[in-house]
Amino acid sequence: MDHFQLRNGELFAEDVPLARIAEEVGTPVYVYSRATLERHAQVFRDGLAAIPRKHIAFAVKSNPNLAVLRVLGRQGYGADVVSGGEMRRALAAGIPAKDIVFSGVGKTARELADALDAEIGQFNIESEEEGLELARIAAERGKRAACALRVNPDIDAGTHEKISTGKADNKFGVPFDLATGIYARLAELPGMNMRGLAVHIGSQLSDLKPLELAFEKVGTLLGQLRSAGHRVTHVDLGGGLGVPYKAGDVLPSPAEYGAMVARVTQGWDVELMFEPGRVIAGNAGVLLTRVIRVKRNGNRTPFMVVDAAMNDLARPALYGAWHDFDAVRPSGERMTAHIVGPICETGDTFARDRNCDALADGDLAVFRTAGAYGATMASSYNSRGFVAEVLVDGDRFAVVADRILPEEIYAAERVPEWLD
Ligand SMILES: *Cc1c(COP(=O)(O)O)cnc(C)c1O
Repeated sequence: MDHFQLRNGELFAEDVPLARIAEEVGTPVYVYSRATLERHAQVFRDGLAAIPRKHIAFAVKSNPNLAVLRVLGRQGYGADVVSGGEMRRALAAGIPAKDIVFSGVGKTARELADALDAEIGQFNIESEEEGLELARIAAERGKRAACALRVNPDIDAGTHEKISTGKADNKFGVPFDLATGIYARLAELPGMNMRGLAVHIGSQLSDLKPLELAFEKVGTLLGQLRSAGHRVTHVDLGGGLGVPYKAGDVLPSPAEYGAMVARVTQGWDVELMFEPGRVIAGNAGVLLTRVIRVKRNGNRTPFMVVDAAMNDLARPALYGAWHDFDAVRPSGERMTAHIVGPICETGDTFARDRNCDALADGDLAVFRTAGAYGATMASSYNSRGFVAEVLVDGDRFAVVADRILPEEIYAAERVPEWLD
């Protein structure tokens, strides 16, 4: 459930008409709902009510906006980060260092050192090589790094190939059959506090079965490690729960997910960790856009050219992803159109042959479910600048990321004097 609903024929974000935001901030603009973020944080936590010891870290990469992180931090969420930049953001948003988990296959020596200095809660190690490097850097500092070993369970998550992470030929985690040996070797190093396992098999999962299979494999490994005398006190089950992108889609609920987790992890006697991203932020945001013009093309399907483009919302171009597209003031009439942005690439297409609200030049519309992997994937391609972001809270709203103009971007560029 989200808080982007029609009231008297007009689309609102909570108690704010989206037309007012378009008027005051301009378009395109991402609009997030605080109430929806908080509701999703609560529903996810409620789904895990049967889990006695748990830590929930929001996957910052899904929506790294400082205000969004602050809202979730106030809900008691930690942060799952995948770069030094994300770590600094999470800290800047006020998330305690101890609640930060650092994932990612390519952490640099600098990032590892900075994270040790910041005293983050846990490193999810993705290779033996990374573990050796972290142990060395930690030992130099007289520290011990709290670590979980990310394993690759070789399970097909059944999602888009570009967001699958748990197959043996994906770059993530250590091969399952090598995990015990790597864990044992890393656990002996003075700079290491090997304390657990981690797994994350992909994103936008629409079926719990692959997750369950992955968790079962982790459970087997947990037993083997303990039998070999190793201490395992933490297991990080990652994120990945999908969200409905199309009205009417039915996805596993956090309650169903939680029930499965409780069943599979019964008797593990560990603190369970979770890294949800999309399921928290996805439906908490829309991309508000204005129709530039409808290009009729004779009797062919018209192109509806909107002022948002693939640089603002990359998912359709990147993954062929679907986003529902709704008028801010629907007339009740429908039309069929190709919905496209102004960028000079055919890939700048949000939808082909979409049956949608009839819209005319200047009308406002939203791409729904744009709160995760939306603004954060934006680029300035075609010198369009970076899109603005707004957070709504009841009947008030604030710009939580300024629109960045092309002039501000090229101010960081230099023409060397030898070109004069
Ligand atoms: C991307 C990612 C997540 C979040 O995935 P969602 O599908 O957004 O829940 C969690 N953990 C890791 C390690 C990730 O890379």
